Amino acid sequence: MLWLRGCPRCGGDLADAGFGLETYVECLQCGKTLTAEQEAAVRSASRRYAARAA
Ligand SMILES: [Zn+2]
Repeated sequence: MLWLRGCPRCGGDLADAGFGLETYVECLQCGKTLTAEQEAAVRSASRRYAARAA
């Protein structure tokens, strides 16, 4: 999963990262990893977007 311009620090692009059950969301530009709260926010926003597009 990729979220364009979703980084709260730099406005960069966020991507799913991690390995196995240890997953997290990381900014491709500044390397920031989101907190659990920030990650939940971007994931729920993408679900709303997907529902609207369907
Ligand atoms: Zn960033």
